[in-house]
Amino acid sequence: MMEYIEKKFDVEQVIEDFELMTKDAGRIQEETLGKILKENEGTEYMKQWGLNGRTDVETFKACVPIVSHNDLNPYIQRIVDGDLSPILTGKPIQAISLSSGTTQGKPKFVPFNDVLVNSAMQTFKLSFAFRNREFPIGNGKALHFFYSSKQFKTKGGLAAGTASTNVFRNAQFQKTVKAMSTPVCSPDEVTFGPDFQQSLYCHLLCGLIFRNEVQVVSSMFAHSIVHAFQSFEQIWEALVVDIREGDLSSRVTVPSIRLAMSKLLKPDPELAETIYIKCSSLSNWYGLIPELFPNTKYIHGVMTGSMEPYLKKLRHYAGELPLLSADYCSSEGCIGVNVNPKLPPEMVTYAVLPNIAYFEFLPLKENLIGMEQANSTVGLTEVKLGEEYEIVFTNFAGLYRYRLGDVVKIKGFHNGTPELQFVCRKDLLLSINIDKNTEKDLQLAVEAAGKHLVDEILEVVDFTSHVNISADPGHYVIFWELSGEATDEILQECCNCLDKSFLDAGYVSSRKVNAIGALELRIVKKGTFHKILDHFVGLGGAASQFKTPRCVGPKNSSLIEILSSNVVKSYSSTAFC
Ligand code: AMP
Repeated sequence: MMEYIEKKFDVEQVIEDFELMTKDAGRIQEETLGKILKENEGTEYMKQWGLNGRTDVETFKACVPIVSHNDLNPYIQRIVDGDLSPILTGKPIQAISLSSGTTQGKPKFVPFNDVLVNSAMQTFKLSFAFRNREFPIGNGKALHFFYSSKQFKTKGGLAAGTASTNVFRNAQFQKTVKAMSTPVCSPDEVTFGPDFQQSLYCHLLCGLIFRNEVQVVSSMFAHSIVHAFQSFEQIWEALVVDIREGDLSSRVTVPSIRLAMSKLLKPDPELAETIYIKCSSLSNWYGLIPELFPNTKYIHGVMTGSMEPYLKKLRHYAGELPLLSADYCSSEGCIGVNVNPKLPPEMVTYAVLPNIAYFEFLPLKENLIGMEQANSTVGLTEVKLGEEYEIVFTNFAGLYRYRLGDVVKIKGFHNGTPELQFVCRKDLLLSINIDKNTEKDLQLAVEAAGKHLVDEILEVVDFTSHVNISADPGHYVIFWELSGEATDEILQECCNCLDKSFLDAGYVSSRKVNAIGALELRIVKKGTFHKILDHFVGLGGAASQFKTPRCVGPKNSSLIEILSSNVVKSYSSTAFC
């Protein structure tokens, strides 16, 4: 009871603090910038811009250039290699985060420090507070599909891992999480285990052992939940055997995981039988999550942006359970919190935390003219409803006027702070000549073409794309993995529809005059996208942070090889003939 009162008090206080802060967002932003600049005025990077102790917004914007990761990389690399002088931050950087980099094909190094842990903690508490107000959960457990990355030491002796691993391993964060949130089903040995497949197997097993206690099913990105239950479809019988016999499958070989699991796993023929009956009788796995975990209150994980294509499958597994999208964070720092958790994922927005970093917004239309952009950003409280912007931010860990590479739309305001809708990554995805199609355009085209599969009770499991410029003329190649087999006729229709669904004027006009060739749809074998995830994990990436690369560049030869070697059928568009 005492614990409950403490939690309740915290929750209200946290929301009240946020309300106050967002009412005064403009002043808090100025204060935050002042603090960042004061703390770091003596750094090599900042000294060169001649601020001479000035911390006001105008001087800052006039003197310091807008940069991207590539511009800062030489500085970051020296830190990674062990240079302890004040390069980007006044206090030395002690850890490095690896961004998933799935869009670029290789991870980026990003400086990490305790201030980022504090921001993550603030985001976590706030998000928990808003969620718990709408969806209170009692004593129970969370089935959390989290996988840590491998941590390693850089040449200069800094700990390197994904930002989430850096945050989750932090003692202070762990204390906060344990005090605030629902305990997880899986022991740490499973979560921090070195083998993704073995951790996944044991997460599922732990969930089943505690099936009546599970109140939340969650992951960082929704892809991990979908992937977990797709795997469950394949391995559920082995899980049932383990529970019946109380003996862990030999597929789990990591000794620390085996030891931790042996403390939980006892022969339970009754539970095994219940799961067996449920799985044998479920039609097409619809509603699998509430069947397996009958006391689940909601599903939680990032469901916006590149996670949207998995929503259909997630809804299938979730049945009637509410889907709550998690917050908007990146390796570079947190940006916003979902303060309206009741909204369906497609409508979710993120309220920006004004004390976490200094935010600027580059209006998207003015975004094509090089250095002229330096003065064209607007501040957090100057953004306009309905407009799209690229986020630029300055944080406490050595990033100044840094282009995050994300495009957002202003959908409203929470007091004085904007509520952002995530639109897409800024990087142009598909372009051959004058055409420009983004991740979002691709997603919409796939959604439109996927409708031709509905009557066949089929769906697109996952997709990616590639620009083939080795052919003349160059053309778009779209790779699809499907849930089953479709006829040639339907797939030809899908291919034509894809081609017609890229509505950008540059693409349409180029297609009409054959300056861009017919779009190719290539169907890959079932399981191909799981191989891509395995490949990413094999390179040291964390499965929790995985985002399917929606466009595979020519340099990413290993991914092209995985895709090409799994193609079973291909079609060429006849849409513009
Ligand atoms: P990482 O580089 O692995 O840290 O991934 C960070 C990126 O993931 C962000 O810059 C966004 O592009 C994406 N991301 C993170 N949170 C969300 C969210 N809630 N909705 C959509 N995309 C997100």
